[in-house]
Amino acid sequence: MATYSHSRVTTFENCPYQYKLRYIDKKKPETPTTIEAFMGDMVHQALEDLYKRKKFRQRVAKESLVKFYRDLWKKNYSYDILIVKKGLDAENYRKMGEKFLTDYYDRMKPFEDMTILGLETQDRMTLKDGNQWHVRIDKLGCDSKGNYYVCDYKTNSRMKDQNEADEDRQLAMYSIWVKDKFKDAKSVKLIWHMLAFNKDAVSERTDKQVEKLQDEVIERIREIESATEFPTNVTALCDYCGFRGECPSFKHQAELEKIEVVEQFKEDEGVKLVDKYSEIKTKLSELKTAEEEFKDNLIRYAKQFEIDVAYGSNKKASVREFDRIVMPEGEDKAKFLQLLKDKGVYEECSMLCYPKLNSKVLKDEIEQEIKDKVNIEKDYRISLSRRKDLEEE
Ligand code: SF4
Repeated sequence: MATYSHSRVTTFENCPYQYKLRYIDKKKPETPTTIEAFMGDMVHQALEDLYKRKKFRQRVAKESLVKFYRDLWKKNYSYDILIVKKGLDAENYRKMGEKFLTDYYDRMKPFEDMTILGLETQDRMTLKDGNQWHVRIDKLGCDSKGNYYVCDYKTNSRMKDQNEADEDRQLAMYSIWVKDKFKDAKSVKLIWHMLAFNKDAVSERTDKQVEKLQDEVIERIREIESATEFPTNVTALCDYCGFRGECPSFKHQAELEKIEVVEQFKEDEGVKLVDKYSEIKTKLSELKTAEEEFKDNLIRYAKQFEIDVAYGSNKKASVREFDRIVMPEGEDKAKFLQLLKDKGVYEECSMLCYPKLNSKVLKDEIEQEIKDKVNIEKDYRISLSRRKDLEEE
């Protein structure tokens, strides 16, 4: 049995390939962390220190919180931390974190809204399928009425709305652990301190909801454990991925970035192949447009001189007019298809929709008996698109 966590399952959901590198091949990312994660970590540590000092009845001045944060940043910052957003530097992020802390300090002072039971609490709980679930709670508290609070600091630049809070898996899973550990818990409130907005998002789940959530998590773990393929999933998150140098979707780009001389870049075999392929595709598209244009001209010419064959040097072009039916569209289309069925001609006139059948077989949305009759083989599709990374520069 393995140990899963919200972040492990989310990695699989976001990109199975990254999951494989991180959790199966146990590879370390090339970049230590991103500036967003680093700033979040420094803010978490500063708040942990604040509550620790509070616990020991030490004076917690805003200035000392800021000083702690600044010192921590200086001690831990390294120049290989990844900064993705153009126009921003480490100092912008450091100041942002400082603002989050001072705003939080002003809003929460004197920090007596709950009794603190744990900070950066780490534990494991056993799921119904026997797997372990990693529990890590930024701030765990309770009050005298039996309310427990599972709190998470978020440094995101996007406010969590109520729907998102009510759908969130991470804290909801921790509420199972709280109810198991603290039998007097009458309620478990899930609180996200959205530091960039100096606001909280709050949610609470019923036992039934939590039960259902655990079943969904177990189902997802089953899916992960039975996965035999781990495809890449290119999304905006790739900008923050520390495995780009090993990722099939970015490895070539990472290699090219190491080349400083333009001539050498142009000599790269991959660059040459893509450039040539792109050139051919452009020519084909131009030819297609020209074909349509010449076809129209030929039809016009044939009509003008009332001929149905035009003669060239080596070839002749026959221009024949023919009738074709136009099928009804929208609602009328369904009625028309039904009419064909009623009249018994549908089967005879319909064609198998290959893309639909292909998709149903691959997505396992068709009976096994049908699946057993087809072979699945590998094929390739090449699609060209613009390099957005060059446009942004
Ligand atoms: S760069 Fe993107 S596609 Fe590649 S491993 Fe990372 S997240 Fe996945």
